[in-house]
Amino acid sequence: MVLFMKSSNFRIVPLATEIAVTARRMAASGAPDHVMVIANSPNGFPCRHCLRWARPDERMILFPYAAIPAGHPYSESGPIFVHAEPCERYGATDKYPANFRKGRVMRAYNVNYDMIDAEVVNGSEPEAIIEKLLQKPETAFVDARSVTHGCYTFRVHRL
Ligand SMILES: [Zn+2]
Repeated sequence: MVLFMKSSNFRIVPLATEIAVTARRMAASGAPDHVMVIANSPNGFPCRHCLRWARPDERMILFPYAAIPAGHPYSESGPIFVHAEPCERYGATDKYPANFRKGRVMRAYNVNYDMIDAEVVNGSEPEAIIEKLLQKPETAFVDARSVTHGCYTFRVHRL
């Protein structure tokens, strides 16, 4: 008997490395909207570049990121963290990041950046919600955000 692994139909898109590098440089140059903070809880400081929670005492850069660019009704800029030290960009892009299986909401957007649907990951499998949202033909991408703080976490594209 031959078994086939069911492969995902999505691709996780972590924050671009250039954005993390620029954020570290701007924090080092003293930009007032890029601040260095020390993580002081195990599940409060998600790095958008390596897609894991900072360990307590790790240094993080906090800065604003426009997940939905300006010029649209749903334009949105909000605070995100990246590690202050260089970290490896999340590479398992066919796998949902293990650190964020709880406390996320999935928002589906169309090509015009209009939010067309949203669903909270509430005890269910995030992969199933992503697949459902991507099945809508008008869905261009899905954004994972914090269900409590609203902050952008990562993007999901169709394969
Ligand atoms: Zn990181």
